[in-house]
Amino acid sequence: MNSNELVAQLQFFQDIGVETLSVGADSSEGCALSPLRCADRPGDEDGIPRPQALEAVRAELGDCQRCKLAPKRTNLVFGSGNANAELAFVGEAPGYDEDQQGLPFVGRAGQLLTKIIESINLKRDDVYICNVLKCRPPENRNPEPDEVASCNPFLKKQLAAIRPKIVCCLGTFAAQTVLQTAAPISRLRGKFFDVEGMRVIATFHPAYLLRSPEKKREVWEDMKQIRAELFRLRS
Ligand code: URA
Repeated sequence: MNSNELVAQLQFFQDIGVETLSVGADSSEGCALSPLRCADRPGDEDGIPRPQALEAVRAELGDCQRCKLAPKRTNLVFGSGNANAELAFVGEAPGYDEDQQGLPFVGRAGQLLTKIIESINLKRDDVYICNVLKCRPPENRNPEPDEVASCNPFLKKQLAAIRPKIVCCLGTFAAQTVLQTAAPISRLRGKFFDVEGMRVIATFHPAYLLRSPEKKREVWEDMKQIRAELFRLRS
């Protein structure tokens, strides 16, 4: 981390109300910088290594033309990060920058997501990041039900390939899709649900945090829960 990145990270801690940082302790409680690295995880129970299983999902998706978003996209945005991740983030859909680069969360919201990940002492490379929709909706409009219906089987397969211990849904669409509910994000966030053997938690979308920075504190509470749950699941 260079000094500019360090200043940005400390600014994020200040924004979310962290007043003290302890460095080097190995506890999940009260330590914003406790070490937490995703170790390489062994292959899945069926013997297929996770990266290979994920590659098979990508191959099946192919040059997807399954919904009306396909002709408008520049790049399909499958996902990025560690196929062996213990923690996966699921967003809504690619925006302009993601569509241009073919990578999830690389615009302003993505930069904030990076800080959020680093707030629990993980790096982007330690986690897996993807979206409900793999193609950008025009003008970043909300995903439509037929688009979610086309894409959701692939999200499910991605998560089944990685089998992260924890899935963090970013915002309403991700939470409602993964949890199969119409409940609002305000009711869903901040608690764990069990879905297909994974612990699922929802929090506010980073793009929403850019518009409503006062909500960062609640996201920090959710991130602390994720960190504590990761420690608990490891022990
Ligand atoms: N918003 C999302 O939900 N996903 C991205 O990849 C970028 C912005």
